[in-house]
Amino acid sequence: MTIERTLSIIKPDATERNITGLIVARLEGAGLRVVAQKRVWWKKKQAEEFYEMHKKRDFFDELVQFMISGPIVVQVLEGEDAIKRNRLVMGATNPVDADPGTIRKDFAVNLQRNSVHGSDSPESAKREIDLLFKKSEIVG
Ligand code: UDP
Repeated sequence: MTIERTLSIIKPDATERNITGLIVARLEGAGLRVVAQKRVWWKKKQAEEFYEMHKKRDFFDELVQFMISGPIVVQVLEGEDAIKRNRLVMGATNPVDADPGTIRKDFAVNLQRNSVHGSDSPESAKREIDLLFKKSEIVG
């Protein structure tokens, strides 16, 4: 049994629609535990740094604009195989391709406004958690 931590974000399309609680309930229902959580409104530089691996992609500028268009909820989730488990309950990036019962199938607006982010590897989970949380803010 591997207990892992992963970084999760509830994106502006979801805070705008007041469905952060519904999304957290889905994550908890999938066996993930919130061990850190805060509501923030990113500046452009923070969004650019977080998504720097996508800097050369044609959707980068629009993604940054979207992520700074409203508040977000950043959180650390803990659980067995948390990284993969979170990605499974999130569903595919494009809600059109997401499986029934996933967060993106049920809540996402479109490919960009897809309600949640989740780290995609142990390396990105570590980088993203270290970028957004101090050690003292994570209470397991
Ligand atoms: N995105 C977009 N257009 C695309 C691909 C991605 O707007 O063609 C956005 C979408 O919000 C996605 C984020 O960029 O969640 C990061 O993309 P990635 O491929 O890393 O998908 P994820 O890991 O979030 O499923």
